[in-house]
This record gives sequence, C-alpha cells and structure tokens, in this order.
Amino acid sequence: MAAPREGSLEAPTRHPLDWKNPTFYDRADLFRELERVYDICHGCRRCVSLCNAFPTLFDLVDESETMEVDGVAKEDYWKVVDHCYLCDLCYMTKCPYVPPHEWNVDFPHLMLRAKAVQFKETGASFRNRLLTSTDTVGKLAGIPVVVSVVNAANRNPGMRKLLENTLGVSADAVLPEYHSVTLRDRLRTHAPRIVPRPGEKTTGKVALFATCYGNYNEPDIGEDLVAVFEHNGIPVTTVPKERCCGMPKLELGDLDSVEEAKNANIPVLAKLVDEGFDIVAPVPSCVLMFKQELPLMFPDDEDVQKVKNAIYDPFEYLMLRHKEGWLKTDFKV
Ligand code: SF4
Ligand code: SF4
Repeated sequence: MAAPREGSLEAPTRHPLDWKNPTFYDRADLFRELERVYDICHGCRRCVSLCNAFPTLFDLVDESETMEVDGVAKEDYWKVVDHCYLCDLCYMTKCPYVPPHEWNVDFPHLMLRAKAVQFKETGASFRNRLLTSTDTVGKLAGIPVVVSVVNAANRNPGMRKLLENTLGVSADAVLPEYHSVTLRDRLRTHAPRIVPRPGEKTTGKVALFATCYGNYNEPDIGEDLVAVFEHNGIPVTTVPKERCCGMPKLELGDLDSVEEAKNANIPVLAKLVDEGFDIVAPVPSCVLMFKQELPLMFPDDEDVQKVKNAIYDPFEYLMLRHKEGWLKTDFKV
C-alpha cells in the first residue's frame, strides 16, 4: 500500500458544503471528524502562529494526560471552534493537506460546520444575533437624530463601559461612525453618461453592491470608488436593492439566515449580470461571500454561479481593466 504523501502537488480544490445533508448536523459524526482533523493538525502544527484556534488546540493536547488528541475532553473541542473567525488563512496559505490531498483537511469549513451544529442546537445569544444583524443595526442607528446619539455614545467612555458590560464589546475597540445619509442615498440620483468599453474579461459597466459597512459606516469609500472607476471610463450604478451578504450570519453558523440573504440578493444581482453589468463591492469579505461561500453552499444554483463569475473586488477589477489596456496610469492630480 502506498504511504500517504507529505503535502500535495496539485492545485487546491474545495468541496461544496454538504449542509443540506442531515449528517452535517449529526453531533457524533462531527466529533469524529473534529478528532480526525485535530489529530492531523497536532502532528503538523504549521498553523500555530495564525490565530488563537491552533494554540488553543495544541495547549489542550499538550496539557492532556496522554498528550494526544484522545486525551482532550470532547467538550473542550468547542474552545478551538470559538477561536476560529473563518478567515481562511490556514486553508489558503499553510495547509498542504487540503483537497485533493487524501487527508482532505478543510479546517475553516470544519469549524463552520461545528458552528452550524452549535447554532442548530443552542441558537445564539442576544448579543451575537444583534451584532450579526448588520443591516438592521445600520438602518436603526442611521435614523436622523438617533445617529448623533449613537455616535456620541460610541465616543463616550462611560457608555462604552456599559456596552462592554452588557454586550461584551470591548471599551477599547474602535467602533465605526454611523451615517444617516448612506452611500445608497448619496448615489440615488447618480446617472453616469459614460459609454462602457468592454474588455476581454470585463464588460466595462459596473453595478455597485454597497455592503452594510460601505452603506452605513463608510459611505466615502463607495463615493471614492465611483470617482476612480468613472475617471477610468467605467460607469457605475447602484444595485437597485440589496441586503447584507450574509457573511456575519455565516460566521455565526446560522446557515438558514445565509440562505434567506442569498434568496434576497441573488435574483437582483443575476438580473444585472444578464443586463451586462459586472458587480463590485467595497468590502472584501462580502465579495468572498458571493465568490466562494455561496457557490460552495449552493453548487447547483445557476444564478449563484453566474454572480460568482461576475463579482469582483474593486482592485481586482481595476487590475483586469489595466491588463485590457483601459486603466489610466498617468495619475494626474
Ligand atoms: S480559518 Fe479559523 S483556524 Fe484558520 S487561520 Fe483563520 S481563524 Fe484560524
Ligand atoms: S490546518 Fe493543515 S497546515 Fe494547519 S495545522 Fe492543520 S494540518 Fe497543519
């Protein structure tokens, strides 16, 4: 029998997330897989410096009686899961055992599965439900008058202490400002008269998915994006209707809410793609949601795949335009 290879020479692939299969939520099956992968990670330890999930796992192993994964109490497995914020770094930059390697290690998606099981079994705290409802919070905090109260409270040390004690939001964390005149408000009457110039890969006309953060917290970023794109001959219109991409709910393991967000956004975005628009969003994790997570959650949904192929990070888009010869590189002030 051939010995397992140390690392893979093939390009990494990613399996769809089998979240509609009842086994996905089977606790015993999950724990078998956690034990298998934790054991591989314990033998490897390459990711020790990436985040707190791996040091937590390795400390649990090293402090156990057997000094192996079988010595770690199953309930302590959750401590590792809690430290993972699904950044994908371990998968993307370190792990030699990702598929197609036979060990089939996809640490972030295993953590996601564990979060989904936890969410199905116990739901989420009020704090987590609130903090992951970014569009609702943005809408409420952005109501005129309310917005100045919220922003003043976020700058007030006493109120921040209260927020820390009630919602567990560190008083030292930098919190973004909220705006009542959102990015979508600012672009409502924007009607560029630019004739798009299609390139080999880009259509040269763009629909902007504002994102919750871009819409309520940093509308200037979106306005700057429009100015830069239109300076480069790319007309930008706003996506007619949008809600949160679902990434905060994904990180909570609330996959049904992710599906709800998908059902609201994808028909609008797919229609834009049919009309010849490319799509950009100013927040990378929102682009990632449409480009990676939704396609893996809904591999048979043609509209999801269509949007996946047409959505870009703004810098990726400008680089494509540069390769197509359409980017102005004189950078005059
Ligand atoms: S995906 Fe999770 S475990 Fe992997 S590096 Fe990011 S936070 Fe750490
Ligand atoms: S995720 Fe991969 S690279 Fe990282 S510790 Fe585990 S086996 Fe090693």
